[in-house]
Amino acid sequence: MAKSAQKKKKPKKIENLLPETQRSVLLKKHTTFRVGGFAEYFFIAKNSDDLVRAVIAARELKIPFFILGDGSNLLVSDSGFQGLVIKARNNQYKIEHQKICADSGVAVSVLVKESVKRGLSGLEWAGGLPGTLGGAIRGNAGAFGGEIKDNVVEVEFLDNRNKVRKFSNKNCAFSYRSSIFKKKSFIILSVIIKFQKGDRNKLSKVAKSHIIYRRTKHPLNYPNAGSIFKNCDFKKAPKAIKKRFLSVVKKDPFPIIPTALVILEAGLSGKRVGNAQISKKHSNYIVNLGGAKASDVKKLIKIVKDTVKNKFNLVLEEEIQII
Ligand SMILES: Cc1cc2nc3c(=O)[nH]c(=O)nc-3n(C[C@H](O)[C@H](O)[C@H](O)COP(=O)(O)OP(=O)(O)OC[C@H]3O[C@@H](n4cnc5c(N)ncnc54)[C@H](O)[C@@H]3O)c2cc1C
Repeated sequence: MAKSAQKKKKPKKIENLLPETQRSVLLKKHTTFRVGGFAEYFFIAKNSDDLVRAVIAARELKIPFFILGDGSNLLVSDSGFQGLVIKARNNQYKIEHQKICADSGVAVSVLVKESVKRGLSGLEWAGGLPGTLGGAIRGNAGAFGGEIKDNVVEVEFLDNRNKVRKFSNKNCAFSYRSSIFKKKSFIILSVIIKFQKGDRNKLSKVAKSHIIYRRTKHPLNYPNAGSIFKNCDFKKAPKAIKKRFLSVVKKDPFPIIPTALVILEAGLSGKRVGNAQISKKHSNYIVNLGGAKASDVKKLIKIVKDTVKNKFNLVLEEEIQII
């Protein structure tokens, strides 16, 4: 065997592949819940090339990784994340005619503001929706009858073989709070969103009304991660429950029983474990009263699921992502 072949290959290290990587970064500072331990490695992707580079590096080094948007849909464990957290801060966008092409790290609020300002209709339902475009696409975020899928033309993503590809809307397999990107763990890089022409003042009023609604009805004065559970599909609910909740069924985007009301009816409003509490203002929110632990939140989630199953024979499904 040639001498060179006998030489042992030096193992690759994260500091060589991603020299900008930070160590031991506290994740609670990067989530709206203000819960979560340390990330072993933390890398800020300033553009989509960085995002691709970081994912490929993690795969090459065989270390677990996850993409962090604005952390508004996350419950991060108290023991943190052993691996690489890649913060998506790729935030370029351009507006041409009735389309916006935006990086996945752009805040949805920026896109709402920019489109409304130009009299472009399509995203006004998302007034007050926290998070990045990537997070919204992955979970097909929605509110007030709208869903992000309604506006998507094309999504550029990195697949599991490190290939950059594009999917048109119909290939994204959007469904209630889900998409192909969630099912297959694809990495969203950029998105093209289409709009219709609209009246700037009317659009602005709609977006603002949603922001005001959220401020009035949601417990935004405490750290939280939005709705903990998905709403209940009315069609799938047991007969007796359908009857009991018939008067509160609404279309969002299909007929649902609001989970907040189910939790309220179960008598759990205000229930507390440690410093995590089921909000008295909106029962599908758990609020962090200060220094809550992920373990407290998890215990509360279990209490809610068990109680609702026992009382109403309804199985609640988490909307938040648990890391
Ligand atoms: C007060 C409040 C109100 C909310 N109201 C709503 C609402 O009305 N409707 C609704 O649908 N949601 C709502 N949410 C939840 C949240 O805002 C959305 O789910 C949002 O789209 C998440 O985006 P993010 O950037 O914060 O994602 P994160 O929380 O950072 O991440 C969520 C998931 O997406 C993944 N991800 C993020 N970026 C990418 C990417 N580029 N490629 C691949 N995966 C990625 C993450 O790995 C993670 O699994 C609310 C949250 C809060 C705090």
